[in-house]
Amino acid sequence: MSYVDEVIERIVKENPNEPEFHQAVKEVLNSLRPVVDANEEKFRKDALLERLTNPERQLKFRVPWVDDKGQVQVNTGYRVQYSSAIGPYKGGIRLHPSVNLGIIKFLGFEQIFKNSLTGLPIGGGKGGSDFDPKGKSDREVMAFCQSFMTELCKYIGADTDVPAGDIGTGAREIGYMFGQYKRIRGVYEGVLTGKGLSYGGSLARKEATGYGLLYIVQEMLKSKGDSLQGKTVIVSGAGNVATYAIEKAYQLGGKPVTCSDSTGWVYDPDGIDLDALKEIKEVKRARLTEYRNYRPNAEYHEGRGVWTVKADIALPCATQNELNLEDAKTLVANGTKVVAEGANMPTTQEATDYLQENGIIFLPGKAANAGGVATSALEMSQNSERLSWSFEEVDAKLQGIMANIFHNIDNAAKKYGFEGNYVVGANIAGFEKVVDAMNAQGIV
Ligand code: NDP
Repeated sequence: MSYVDEVIERIVKENPNEPEFHQAVKEVLNSLRPVVDANEEKFRKDALLERLTNPERQLKFRVPWVDDKGQVQVNTGYRVQYSSAIGPYKGGIRLHPSVNLGIIKFLGFEQIFKNSLTGLPIGGGKGGSDFDPKGKSDREVMAFCQSFMTELCKYIGADTDVPAGDIGTGAREIGYMFGQYKRIRGVYEGVLTGKGLSYGGSLARKEATGYGLLYIVQEMLKSKGDSLQGKTVIVSGAGNVATYAIEKAYQLGGKPVTCSDSTGWVYDPDGIDLDALKEIKEVKRARLTEYRNYRPNAEYHEGRGVWTVKADIALPCATQNELNLEDAKTLVANGTKVVAEGANMPTTQEATDYLQENGIIFLPGKAANAGGVATSALEMSQNSERLSWSFEEVDAKLQGIMANIFHNIDNAAKKYGFEGNYVVGANIAGFEKVVDAMNAQGIV
């Protein structure tokens, strides 16, 4: 049995009931076969893949807090410190009822390669809790965040592990967590990114993931003599990534016509009204059902269905496994040319295979949504310097980083004979740097 197959088999056996984690490991290891096969003896002797796929440390802890009725609630908190080969652990905190250890491990594992691709010195990690901020008062969210940080603060720090936002963790939650960290540890340091501008946040961090997604699509199209001008774009999600992907799609000449949340989706043939979307989601924290109050001509549908709308470019920006094989078939039948992942692993493995087999250009999340973590790393740099850069400065760096990522994954794919396969390109390019650092640091 090949070394890759052996490790996959072991991961599945040793980590039961963690399908998303298995999926992420299989996707990465399968696409690393050309590199691993060429170095099989050495990698096996060094147990390189076992060390890569086993987190350096995983924390699971109790998070008790008191709700507005005086009832004590108990959630579970997680932090998986996956790999510090190229820098301090870095990755977001997800607050969503679906969170479990397997989901955090899948996200943390992906994060290693994504962070490596940015070219910046950041290792991989991820955290979260099954707490649901939806429908909670600000006081309840604060109570949860303070309790979560009371435990987590023992294990993180500006030079060890720097968490950030993710699903359910926005500026409000980061603020409460930062306040509690400072209060307990007594240090004012860049321990979290995605902070507010008044206390060490970076301009353009909020926009970075969505903007970065469009920058890499633009760079890819440019390499083929094309552009976003006049392209119809379908987007899923209505959160941080989706909103700023829609904003940048407009700025680059595209026309985004859909968005969605966990209850339904909107099709606006005139193009999504960005101001309305921001007001509904960022100010009112309401459902997309409200969208038609702003745009009576738009359609609102319950359930899922964004991928049925005919478009040139599809940008899944909500959550994992939200684009399945049926959706992929619809996209191909509708003549979609590009799928770029704003979310983490939003496309199932079968869907990815189908899209690639049918000539759709597919940009995987670990490359396409790396703009968020890259700008988080820029926030860390500004915190270390105790300086703030202008929006234009950060945005220009982000554009450069996304263009570099595209060329790196493109070149890695070509080097190993997989031209145009950006999944293989992204995994190999991310892996090479991490392995180099691991080898240099000995068996740790
Ligand atoms: P938000 O919480 O801001 O938004 C998430 C959006 O997706 C919401 O519209 C939400 O709907 C929808 N959604 C979440 N879960 C589900 C579900 N199970 N089914 C259907 N819809 C769902 O998160 P972000 O925009 O920050 O993150 C979106 C994705 O991008 C995630 O995969 C995240 O890991 C990834 N990502 C985020 C980065 C960042 O900088 N924020 C960086 C890189 C990747 P509702 O409002 O109804 O819950």
